[in-house]
Amino acid sequence: MNYNIALIKGDGIGPEIVDGAVAVLQKIGEKYGHTFNFTEYLAGGCAIDATGKPLPEETVEGCKNSDSVLLGAVGGPKWDTLPGNIRPEKALLGLRAALGVYTNLRPAKIYPALKSACTLRPDIIDRGFDMVIVRELTGGIYFGERGRREGKYGPEAYDTEAYSVMEIERIARMAFEAARKRRGSVISIDKANVLETSRLWRETVHRIGEQYPDVTCEDMLVDNAAMQLVRDPSRFDVVVTSNMFGDILSDEASQITGSIGLLASASLGDSKCGLYEPIHGSAPDIAGQDKANPIATILSAAMMLRYAFDLNDEANCIEAAIDKVLADGIRTADIVGDSGATPIGCKAMTEEIIKRL
Ligand code: NAD
Repeated sequence: MNYNIALIKGDGIGPEIVDGAVAVLQKIGEKYGHTFNFTEYLAGGCAIDATGKPLPEETVEGCKNSDSVLLGAVGGPKWDTLPGNIRPEKALLGLRAALGVYTNLRPAKIYPALKSACTLRPDIIDRGFDMVIVRELTGGIYFGERGRREGKYGPEAYDTEAYSVMEIERIARMAFEAARKRRGSVISIDKANVLETSRLWRETVHRIGEQYPDVTCEDMLVDNAAMQLVRDPSRFDVVVTSNMFGDILSDEASQITGSIGLLASASLGDSKCGLYEPIHGSAPDIAGQDKANPIATILSAAMMLRYAFDLNDEANCIEAAIDKVLADGIRTADIVGDSGATPIGCKAMTEEIIKRL
């Protein structure tokens, strides 16, 4: 089969890690008889430099006309002082909205071989964990009305959160469907003791949950969830939550896996064309030094094969090669921990994964 993939390498370590994922996909193509056609588009800081806009129309059109989109990361200190509407991060929000992807799936699990890179106590790690965070992606406070105004105590700023029943219903369904394919448990995270949007969230999630009697559904307040994630992550299977809570909690979940460089994500909507990207940023501190861990981006490519193209064997093959590379003690600097391994770079890690496909 032929698949057309839009590539957005972006800024910082983006080009290095996307090149790694492309090399892996090319090898998978050879092994299983598929052709992956890649077309590069600009977004983020590099797009601002080239066109003055973080998300040029050509990029939006190119992505919409592709079978799927693989993104590295955008942003960096060079563009940090630009006004909000032309900041690199604007490209991410714009792209998610243009592609209609309202769900972000973020798996987080402990790799037995990486226990030493995990920051939790050994007795907690030994219980293991394997969760997926289902984050609402195109609503809530990141998309609400915001601005500056004159307030009671002088100049002030405000951001607003709104969620419609429809937005909550569709994300809740994604979570319950995901739970059916896993261990059958959904924990819905909100701040219903304070926020009206959270009260609507809770009501709606439970109403949808009635259609899934085979899945258990529990509520948890976000402050408690932040504690439980480090206290007993084994209790989480599928977590469903709003845009901002999901953003924060998935970074916390990434930390307990051992490295942010290991976490992939898939952003999905009603069409099959999704957006696949690592959850980490552009890591300007290590950009251009061949130090980045490409695994999160390569795992994102595996999610693309599974969700966008229904290529499960191919996705499993990539995931197994990554399990093997880690079990063999091969490490980039971010996951060395106290393993005693000599860290290798982004390119060498990619080659080691390819050898094991
Ligand atoms: P970051 O995720 O880029 O980096 C945090 C830390 O993790 C850094 O020490 C970095 O070196 C390390 N790290 C991240 N990815 C790694 C990898 N693959 N391998 C090894 N180490 C890795 O977060 P930040 O420093 O807060 O943000 C840097 C820039 O990235 C900012 O401009 C931010 O806005 C942007 N950002 C972009 C995205 C995105 O494109 N989706 C997401 C988050 C942040």
